[in-house]
Amino acid sequence: MMSERTSLRCGGKTIAELILERPEDAHDLEAALEEYGGRPLTLGRGSNILAADGQLGLVVVSLPRQGKELITRETLSGKVRVRVAGGVGLQKVIAWCLRHGLSGLEGLAGIPGSVGGAVAQNAGSYGCEMAGVLTGLVVWSPESGLRRIVPGEYTTGYRSFALRDRAEFFIVFEAELELSKTSPEAAMRAFTEAIEKKKASQPLDKPTAGCIFKNPQGESAGKLMDRAGLKGLRKGDMAFSELHANFMVNLGRGTASQAAELIAAAREAVKGACGLELELEVRTVG
Ligand SMILES: Cc1cc2nc3c(=O)[nH]c(=O)nc-3n(C[C@H](O)[C@H](O)[C@H](O)COP(=O)(O)OP(=O)(O)OC[C@H]3O[C@@H](n4cnc5c(N)ncnc54)[C@H](O)[C@@H]3O)c2cc1C
Repeated sequence: MMSERTSLRCGGKTIAELILERPEDAHDLEAALEEYGGRPLTLGRGSNILAADGQLGLVVVSLPRQGKELITRETLSGKVRVRVAGGVGLQKVIAWCLRHGLSGLEGLAGIPGSVGGAVAQNAGSYGCEMAGVLTGLVVWSPESGLRRIVPGEYTTGYRSFALRDRAEFFIVFEAELELSKTSPEAAMRAFTEAIEKKKASQPLDKPTAGCIFKNPQGESAGKLMDRAGLKGLRKGDMAFSELHANFMVNLGRGTASQAAELIAAAREAVKGACGLELELEVRTVG
């Protein structure tokens, strides 16, 4: 059930889940997908996914949540390159970096996704984004198979990532990050600052999927929604948070169709109030 695998706690039943223990397991993936039928979905922590209700034509593909961080080498400029497994939680990696006095990810404090999900969404906050530290990936796609790639073989943008082969379905098995050396105290200070700001402005105690909409160029989607009177708007058990309008919260048994009603209402209200089209940040799947 996607309701059990997504932080917004909604969504119906998938056909199957395929867990890839090792990158080499990807070689058997196409045959397995053919056997089960349906569309594949690489699932991390489900923290930026809005899944449809009912029976879904999806086969979930997931990775182990464990993996060892590994310092690969120091570069000539004194930076440190670290390889991390795609299924590992981003916060676990950040905690490890803080302990080792490595800086670069502190702005991503509190983002509850996996490393692979953070790459695929180019997760970011407070001026820090995944693409800023990414120096390489181990990926698999049906088009190009399993390989190690470097910047130039993928493109990134605001909350977006694409492989040069344009594969829609791909799996990030490993990411290489280039981080700077700092003291554990300085890294911890930057981390704490970011987390405190988020605690004050985001409904972290409720099921959400992070920001529903991307910020339009030069604007804050949350502020536009607030101005359009959307804070607290509720349809069934889904609502826009009173604390942060761009965070949808599930107040109990919220459904994807209630979420869709809210999304439509927000788009119409913001378009009416300031003429801007809101674009979804959350990934809708079904
Ligand atoms: C409370 C809260 C706060 C948040 N704050 C922020 C924030 O400040 N900034 C921000 O950018 N986001 C934020 N988010 C959204 C979300 O946490 C990020 O987008 C996160 O990076 C998604 O990772 P995930 O593992 O949960 O991915 P999922 O939600 O599981 O998947 C998201 C997308 O990534 C793809 N994907 C996942 N894993 C892989 C993989 N291994 N290989 C290839 N594709 C993959 C999926 O197919 C899907 O398209 C927040 C969410 C919550 C609930």
